[in-house]
Amino acid sequence: MKVLVAIKRVVDANVKVRVKADNSAVELANIKMAINPFCEIAIEEAIRLKEKGHASEVLVVSIGPDTCQEQLRTALALGADRALQIKTDESPEPLAVAKLLKAVVDQEQPGMVILGKQSIDGDNNQTGQMLAALTGMPQGTFASEVAIEGDALQVTREIDGGLQKVSLKLPAVVTTDLRLNEPRYASLPNIMKAKRKPLETQTPEDLGIDISPRLTVLEVTNPPERAAGIKVGSVSELVEKLKNDAGVL
Ligand code: AMP
Repeated sequence: MKVLVAIKRVVDANVKVRVKADNSAVELANIKMAINPFCEIAIEEAIRLKEKGHASEVLVVSIGPDTCQEQLRTALALGADRALQIKTDESPEPLAVAKLLKAVVDQEQPGMVILGKQSIDGDNNQTGQMLAALTGMPQGTFASEVAIEGDALQVTREIDGGLQKVSLKLPAVVTTDLRLNEPRYASLPNIMKAKRKPLETQTPEDLGIDISPRLTVLEVTNPPERAAGIKVGSVSELVEKLKNDAGVL
């Protein structure tokens, strides 16, 4: 079974993001970028499926400018076999990403597609669900455990207040939650080997997909600054402030 993993290049999770002075977007110039953390978990799960003998090939795909080849090479160093960049200098919206991935699914016929549950930049949490709808594949979203039994996939989903187990018929779409696994680091020899692994490039036009945006971002702003705290002199002053100033009592 071939496993397709979709990975997005985003601002590194450890970087404190800044909004551009003109409030048009988040500042990306000279900012450390990385694989979206949920996509790292997706890569790890695909590699584990290969190590367990369930997957024969792991194909990673990223949609973005040439800089996203850096993240594809990292995925190859982690153990993916092949990479595909769908080259665009735009930032396609989730529906456009899902349509592009559907075109790759039609081309590659994977037995499973693993995505992150959410990209930490756009916080959309839409692409996996839309891909499942477009392809007609069943979906196991927010997965914290994945197990293959015959031609079925058992997915444990993280839902409000507990876990839900679902059984899906393969081929299926899975989106990863934080507790699915702990991604490994790439070793230096594997980083060197990854340079020789195949990385192919296609464009949305090659795939016949229109990625024109449907939304216009009007403004990006910082969250309001938190006011500094104060020290109170006594419990009665605290109660008075909670009652009269904060209005929470
Ligand atoms: P989102 O719906 O934007 O929160 O993204 C959910 C998941 O869709 C991500 O974790 C990725 O697996 C996939 N995805 C979103 N955008 C891209 C992209 N530009 N390239 C590849 N995969 C993407």
